[in-house]
Amino acid sequence: RLAALTALRSQPAITLEGQPITLEANIELPEDLPLVADSGAEGIGLYRTEFLYMNRTTPPDEEEQLSAYTRVVEALGGAPVTIRTVDLGADKTVDGGRLNTPVATNPALGLRAIRLCLREPGLFRPQLRAILRTSAQAPVRLLLPMICTLQELTQVMMLLEDCKRELKRQGLKYDPALPVGAMIEVPATAICADIFARHLDFLSIGTNDLIQYTLAIDRIDDEVNYLYDPLHPAVLQLIHHTIVAGEKTGTAISMCGEMAGDPRYTRLLLALGLRDFSMHPASLLEVKRVITESNQQKLTEVSQQFLECYDLSEMQALLDQINEDLP
Ligand code: PEP
Ligand code: MG
Repeated sequence: RLAALTALRSQPAITLEGQPITLEANIELPEDLPLVADSGAEGIGLYRTEFLYMNRTTPPDEEEQLSAYTRVVEALGGAPVTIRTVDLGADKTVDGGRLNTPVATNPALGLRAIRLCLREPGLFRPQLRAILRTSAQAPVRLLLPMICTLQELTQVMMLLEDCKRELKRQGLKYDPALPVGAMIEVPATAICADIFARHLDFLSIGTNDLIQYTLAIDRIDDEVNYLYDPLHPAVLQLIHHTIVAGEKTGTAISMCGEMAGDPRYTRLLLALGLRDFSMHPASLLEVKRVITESNQQKLTEVSQQFLECYDLSEMQALLDQINEDLP
């Protein structure tokens, strides 16, 4: 079975009727790179940069970031790399120094991710410059976490344009057309996905936070963990709504939350119209195997049943049906 999976590494991820599906990897540290090579991923769909900032008292400067990002793009050998700007706060805490933000009563709803970056341009600008400079060497995409208003987007775009002008003056190279995308991980952003899609080059669904915020379940609280459910119809409807917004506006939609890497949900996500998955590289071949054994057309026919199902055991039965009975 392992040998069969390994053989899939160089095979394309296509459904039975030949629909190509993009499979990319999530990484957190350059140490994850060998695993990415083994997985046969087409690129990096999510490079979480928080780990560069953790367990230290001062943030990494532009040069340190540039060398970390360069290591990643070089290892990818020209395949696209999606670098997410730093998502600090909430479950990703930082020790000491000026990054030590005040303890919030409700960290998941507090000064986190893009909110913190926009508050602290001194923290954000070196990262934007480092990502821009990396984009001169390889196909890089810029991904923004926790976006929930258009104002935030406007502020980021102004900062980004300013960094570009600065780099140009300094004679430093960057990709002037660097694609910019946002995480869809706040329900408000998913509901208004078409508005965000019109202003961005791509969107990436972050189910870990999207589920947490949609169901009001703290993703790291063991007491309420039993309620954390990717199959809740509200979650499925938000995912589907985002995918449809992408289709309507011609905007690429991917998913990079844990749900994308769980082979039990691969067919469900295909049914909902997802064509681009990013996951921990260790799950990639198993998900690819499911895709190569799936009939896209048949799955699309049952998608409405999932979206209209409000009964948990019925939902489970539907899932078993597409996972076991359908090709
Ligand atoms: C997510 O929220 O689904 C996600 C991919 O981001 P993170 O897990 O880093 O919050
Ligand atoms: Mg998230």
